[in-house]
Amino acid sequence: MKFDTSCLHAGYRPGNGEPRNIPIIQSTTFRYETSEDMGKLFDLQASGYFYTRLQNPTSDAVAARLCELEGGSAAMLLSSGQAASFFSVFNIASAGDHVVSSATIYGGTYNLFAVTMKRMGIDFTFVDPDCSEEELQAAFRPNTKAVFGETIANPSLVVLDIEKFARVAHKNGVPLIVDNTFATPANCHPFEFGADIVTHSTTKYLDGHANAVGGAIVDSGNFNWEAHADKFPGLTTPDESYHGLVYTQAFGQGGAYITKCVVQLMRDLGATPAPMNSYLLGMGMETLPLRMAKHCANAQGIAEYLSNHEKVEWVRYVGLPGDPYYALGQKYLPHGSCGVVSFGVKGGRAAAEKFMAGLKLCSIATHVADAKTCVLHPASSTHRQMNDEELVAAGVSPDLIRLSVGIEDLSDLIADVEQALAGV
Ligand SMILES: *Cc1c(COP(=O)(O)O)cnc(C)c1O
Repeated sequence: MKFDTSCLHAGYRPGNGEPRNIPIIQSTTFRYETSEDMGKLFDLQASGYFYTRLQNPTSDAVAARLCELEGGSAAMLLSSGQAASFFSVFNIASAGDHVVSSATIYGGTYNLFAVTMKRMGIDFTFVDPDCSEEELQAAFRPNTKAVFGETIANPSLVVLDIEKFARVAHKNGVPLIVDNTFATPANCHPFEFGADIVTHSTTKYLDGHANAVGGAIVDSGNFNWEAHADKFPGLTTPDESYHGLVYTQAFGQGGAYITKCVVQLMRDLGATPAPMNSYLLGMGMETLPLRMAKHCANAQGIAEYLSNHEKVEWVRYVGLPGDPYYALGQKYLPHGSCGVVSFGVKGGRAAAEKFMAGLKLCSIATHVADAKTCVLHPASSTHRQMNDEELVAAGVSPDLIRLSVGIEDLSDLIADVEQALAGV
């Protein structure tokens, strides 16, 4: 199946007389005839459902759809993007280990890595994503277990040089994990450029309608854990909580990582998606290619309009030929990047606040990647505790406005932006 067809049909094929849509299996538990039948599931000797904290048929069908869209070998859904980022790293790194991450990542991921996971004993080194291969290499230590980055960083709109990161990661015998939230598999397949594991906040474009918070992890099946067995004992040596089972032996190179993540981390940490939310995600994914094309066309139109406006100081959008990430965008995102544009209104923080107050159609919201256009001025909302100097240090200029362009008619969006700029 081609990509657009998979968005509708992958992961669930109803049999004769069965529901056309992925059914919502709203049940915590699953019934068995004998304790022995259930015991086999607990020992991972048979596959099947027993408790929704570990696995649920609705969530698994949607995970299988996303797995096919990314071109992976196995996938799982989680209750949030934060849980996906955490599980993806914690599945292969523990206390005493080290991870290299791009410095331009989502703020929530940065906190997770730099504060919370640091408290768990995992050290992170943050590197400039535009660094040379030598500089990237210098960040590695003997105990480094993974490299992390975002295809298109939220909110800085930096495009990751995935091939460069993958090359250096593999030279050091560790996988590259890429958060593909902003690009989505409609616009980028990180596995084709050497990424080994992909994560998502499905809350964003994959769901697409601001319906449900969720996350996902997809494994490419390309990373050879056994070739670096000393680095990944959790995958290559016996798990006593499953009677000494070895994940790479029992589930192979394509299944070991996700199986361990489900039967060990999900079992113990329980960041489980609700079946209803998984259903909504599967529904959203059906229209992903149509929505992404419209998001990108609208964002390109708005970015070009803003670039030519006398009251606008600067505009950042990957699709603008003058953008610092235009060239990397052409390589990794030839069909479009995402719907997020950032810009500054002349007059700094005060002018930005006036512009925001004047908007009528675009909603002020912390969300991005919704079908409906939303807009945020970090300096007066999410980052309001910071003064101008602190904002600049955090990479958020006081005048920065983040516009997440929706799929409305472009002329209505431009009219709204135009009337709000007229009031500044
Ligand atoms: C929103 C976001 C996350 C966190 O996802 P939640 O679903 O909000 O937990 C992670 N990465 C990126 C790039 C995001 O935009």
